[in-house]
Amino acid sequence: MTALLSHPERVRLLGLTDPAAIEELRRASFDRTTATVGDTVHYRGLIELSNRCALDCLYCGIRRSNRELVRYGLDRAEAIEAALFCAEAGYGSCVLQAGERRDEAFIAFVADLVAEIRDRSRSDRLPDGLGITLSLGEQSLATYRRWRAAGAHRYLLRIETSNPALFATIHPPEQSFASRLQALDDLRAAGFQVGTGVMIGLPGQTLDDLAADIGFYAERDIDMIGMGPYLHSAGGALPEQAMMARDALLTLALNMIAVTRLSLPDLNIAATTALQALVEDGRERGIRFGANVTMPNATPRRVRPQYQLYDGKPCLDEGSLECRGCLERRVTTAGRRVGWDQWGDSPHARRRRG
Ligand code: SF4
Repeated sequence: MTALLSHPERVRLLGLTDPAAIEELRRASFDRTTATVGDTVHYRGLIELSNRCALDCLYCGIRRSNRELVRYGLDRAEAIEAALFCAEAGYGSCVLQAGERRDEAFIAFVADLVAEIRDRSRSDRLPDGLGITLSLGEQSLATYRRWRAAGAHRYLLRIETSNPALFATIHPPEQSFASRLQALDDLRAAGFQVGTGVMIGLPGQTLDDLAADIGFYAERDIDMIGMGPYLHSAGGALPEQAMMARDALLTLALNMIAVTRLSLPDLNIAATTALQALVEDGRERGIRFGANVTMPNATPRRVRPQYQLYDGKPCLDEGSLECRGCLERRVTTAGRRVGWDQWGDSPHARRRRG
């Protein structure tokens, strides 16, 4: 895959701060989105299965070392109920997300869950059942194959930054950049549509790094992008002062969505919840800057406060039905419509499948 903008052009556009120039960038990205992936925004009902994690990413609020957190895991019935809500609500797809675990009990739990969700969510509206995206971290190729065979077809594994030196500053030494790359290769080998993404505004990150991140998406032939602003977490290990000023961070995050869209027009790009943690209409803004996917929270309300990767996560109190209606308003306000009852794979992934 070749990126349509050169690296220096990406750096220039990422650094825009003049409102008129940013509006020009936004408009170009919005129009390119309409032309390449259409005027539809696809939903992925987000089900946060568990906040137990064996890893210790320094930026993350549910990292292993955070002893303050009450840990939870949804049982099978709760997870199925949340997934069936997504199907009935017309979402078309769900995302099963959790902290990273590689033990057999967890791997088998996910495999069974995926198979049951696919089976029980079939209907006239969804003859193949819900589309299932997994976001469960680095696993072995055998595990990826097992989950793919069970019926999941998309997988999001964020690289967080494509700069190995910067990666090393936000992860403990036992978590390596090389193994993250290997996992991305393994996901492709297992037959998944592969998503990745980065954090925007990391301490020490430059515009050059972000432009290179887009180059990384192109080199890896990525199908979908989930990226958002770096937000401080009280449960993490990075100092609060390391976070960018909120206004500048929002501008940079939105510029990054637009420049990614203009560079790689046929990917799915998510308007992540983290944007809404920065500003109330953050997700609408993400859609206006070129995002075409969003993730209403379908996790049972009782455990949502325990799944906070960063401070100030929105939508903790809304019921799943309220999230559905609220997000639909946000999508419409942004000049798009919702793609109800569709898997919503990216044109890029569809092209690969032929
Ligand atoms: S980012 Fe993911 S893998 Fe890292 S500590 Fe948080 S939940 Fe675990």
